[in-house]
This record gives sequence, C-alpha cells and structure tokens, in this order.
Amino acid sequence: MTRIATAMRADDWQRAKAAGVNPTQYAILDHLDGRPAGLSVKDLAFQLGVSQPTATDSIAALERKGLIVKHPDPVDRRSVNILLTEQGRAALEAGHAVTGIAEQAVASLVPDEQEHLLVTLIAMIRHMQETNAIPVQRMCVSCRYFRPHAHAGAARPHHCNFVDAAFGQQDLRIDCREHETADPSFRAATWNAFQKDRPSLQANEERGS
Ligand code: SF4
Repeated sequence: MTRIATAMRADDWQRAKAAGVNPTQYAILDHLDGRPAGLSVKDLAFQLGVSQPTATDSIAALERKGLIVKHPDPVDRRSVNILLTEQGRAALEAGHAVTGIAEQAVASLVPDEQEHLLVTLIAMIRHMQETNAIPVQRMCVSCRYFRPHAHAGAARPHHCNFVDAAFGQQDLRIDCREHETADPSFRAATWNAFQKDRPSLQANEERGS
C-alpha cells in the first residue's frame, strides 16, 4: 500500500500540474466538484485532513487564480461557502484527463479482480469513516438512497432510489455527487444487507464486534 500511495502521490502532482495548481489546491477543487452549495473552510479542512490555516492559504491562492469564489452562507450570513467557478471546473477537467499510474494498474486487472478491489476498498474506507478516522465519504454504502441486493440473483442486484434504477456491484460509487448521508443506524443496516453474500466481509465484521 505504501508503494501504491507513492505512485498515487506522483499522479496527484501530474494532475495538479495539468490544472495549474498544487496537489492541495487540486484536492480542494476536487472536493468542491458536484457541491453546488459549496463547502465552508472548516468542512474543506476536515475533508482534506489539514488545519484550517492551511486550507485558508490554499483557498486564497485558488481565489486569486479565479478557480473558486466565496459566497455568504444562505443559512448563516456570518460564514462563507467556497464554490467552484467555471474556470475551476475547467482546471479540474484538465487534471482528470491525466491517466495516472494507479489508474493504469487498475485497468490492467481483469473485471473480477477490479470488482474485488472495489469492494475491498469500500470496506476499508467504510472502516475508517465509521471509526471517525476520516469524514463520511460519498459512497453508496453510506447513502440513504442505497438498497443493497434489492434484486436478489440479478446481474444488477443493487438499487439506487435517487435515479430509481438497478445497478451492479462493479458500479458501486465511492464519490457520488447525488449522495446523501444516511444516519448511522441506517448505514449499519445497509452494510449488513450489503455484505450478506460476502462471507469474508461478514466474518471480519463479526470478529470486530
Ligand atoms: S445516489 Fe449515488 S451514492 Fe446514493 S445510492 Fe445512488 S449511486 Fe449510490
């Protein structure tokens, strides 16, 4: 994992370079994408795992470049939300166009291996978020619209109530724009339902409880 993280850091630099920013600034643009109401400085710092002064410096640099804009929070006029501008979205797309080393490695796997990797990553991310090591991510397994195994035995067993459509295991989302965080009890029930056909995940969960 350390080796993969090293390669992914190199990918981050390449994407940030294509966008004309540094990796922290690029991560801010990425977190703002798909959030029309924006995020506060505090929320951005929390999402990135950096201090508020660090986030503030990066936000100021992005604002000077015209990639983000500050708007008063409609609920609390004393605070501001940070929003992506059209220019910021274009910069982000320039970064997304870069095919990273890690992406190439994933593409080299056969579909079954890719699906297994996706579910393993979801389980790891979920563990980190449920132990409060990281914020809740915009994943299907933490979304109030997710109905796992709603279509038992079908090629696309899961259901998304947001778009009212079935989807397969390989289409599980890790960063979905339409995601809405379910409450903890719903998330726990969803996870139990999701892993019911996956004995290895279930066994691990029982060992951890
Ligand atoms: S809205 Fe997005 S995160 Fe939620 S279930 Fe549908 S696809 Fe998954």
